[in-house]
Formats: sequence, structure tokens, C-alpha cells
Amino acid sequence: MLRVMAYRGDHIKPAEGAGEHISPSNHTPSKLRQNVRVRAFRTPWPAKAFLARVRDVILPSQCLGCAIVVESPDTLCPDCWAKLVMISPAACQCCGLPFSFEQDAPLCGECIRLTPPFTRARAAVIYNDGSRHLIMAFKHGDRPEAARLFARWMVASSPELIADADVLVPVPLDTKRLFKRRFNQAALIAKHIGRDYDIPVLFDTVERIRATPSQGHLSPSQRRRNVAGAFAVPKSRKAQVQGKRVLLIDDVYTTGATAWAVTRQLNKAGARAVDVLTTARVVRT
Ligand SMILES: [Zn+2]
Ligand SMILES: [Zn+2]
Repeated sequence: MLRVMAYRGDHIKPAEGAGEHISPSNHTPSKLRQNVRVRAFRTPWPAKAFLARVRDVILPSQCLGCAIVVESPDTLCPDCWAKLVMISPAACQCCGLPFSFEQDAPLCGECIRLTPPFTRARAAVIYNDGSRHLIMAFKHGDRPEAARLFARWMVASSPELIADADVLVPVPLDTKRLFKRRFNQAALIAKHIGRDYDIPVLFDTVERIRATPSQGHLSPSQRRRNVAGAFAVPKSRKAQVQGKRVLLIDDVYTTGATAWAVTRQLNKAGARAVDVLTTARVVRT
């Protein structure tokens, strides 16, 4: 239970007076565009959001994993917690791969063989049966409120990445997937972190210019080829990241192919450095 409390992230104090960074009073074209984008992913399911509010008021809080009654909202029951594996600090200093035993080497074999373009990639939990179930329910719109819990885990697991970040960039979805799911799960998580820690969120700095076919059966190098050229930072938005330390936000780090592709574009646009923070990380055995 102690570990559960630690991962609620309550010990990390949100910024004083932190609130929405993007307000209607910011009238530059890019800010206006961001405003529209923020509203665009808020409004698609008004009925769902309304029902969620009604449920919060009249019904007791439910576990985000199995819907049994729990003491506080946006959390899990002990059984669902027990299925999660938090990532310990013993991990590759670059890609965050957990080491199964204490070792002196700071980097894993993969990062020694091929250095990633990002500085640090970190995740809160291992992608296993327990976390997959939660992330899938979140991704497909059943439990959008899970974004708050995931944001807390991510901050608690890697406070140094939050402290160092100048701006947050959520990994964009392609239009077809955005239309199908009606919201970008990475943007929703980034919005919570940005609001709580007073870090600007750049919702439209990176664009997905090409849809990528399903990558389930591909090897890491095939995945990297598959997503190469899928992202771009439009010329008009390069200034948003120039000289900045960017924290890229996503839900799952699988082979790192997406993180590699987006980071390369951010580096090309002039970012000072890019870190990556995800809710879960696939660990192949
Ligand atoms: Zn549960
Ligand atoms: Zn590594």
C-alpha cells in the first residue's frame, strides 16, 4: 500500500497558481489555434463527460480497472494495483529499460549499439496484462478520467524530467485514428501534467503527416523505418521549440520507434534536448 501511495504523486507539489496555459486572452494565431484544438478534444463527447460528472456526484467512486467501489476517485482497487509493476530506478540511463539485476553499466546494449536521438526516456509502469487493460480502456474512450491517474504516476516516476521540461509535446495521432477515438490520449495526459506543473503544452507543434500501418508484427528496426517521415514540425511552429528542452508525452513506449521519429523532427526544428515520458513501457524478455 505504501508503494501505491507513493505513486499517487501527491508529494510533488504542483506549481503555485497553476492553471490553463492557453486562455482566450492569448490572441496570437498559434495560441488561438491551440485554443481551438483544446476545445476540439474537450467537446466531442459532451454526453459522456456529462454522464461522468453525474456519476461522480451521485455514485460512489469506481476503480478505473474493474469498476468496483473504491474510497477516492481516479484510482484503483488493491487487486488492480497488485497487477501493476512500477519501474524501479535501476534502468538504462538513456532509454529507461529496466535492468533485471544491479549492474554498473549506465546504458543497455541497445543504446550502446545505436544511440537514441532523445536524452532520456522514462515510463511509470511495465506494459503487462494489468496496465494494458487500463490503457486500452483509456485509449478507446471508456475511462478518459484515467488521464489524471496516469499523469500522477508519470510525474511521480520521473520528477527530474518534469523539473527540466520547458514545454510538453504530446505525440499526435493521425486524423483517421483521431476521428475514430475522438480524442488524443497523449494530449489529454499532457494537459493534466501541464496544468498541474505550469508547463506550456504544445498541442500542434508536431504534425502526423502520414498514417502508419499497424506495427504489431514488425521488429524494432522495421518499426523505425515504418514511422520515419510520419511526423513533421511545420516551419511556422519551429520557433515554439527552438532552444527549448522538450518533454515528449505518450501512453506506451513499445520499441521507441515513435519516440525516435518525433525526437528527430524536434531536434531538426532546433530543440535543445528531448526527453520522453510514457505511462507504460514494453519490456521484452
Ligand atoms: Zn479494480
Ligand atoms: Zn537503453
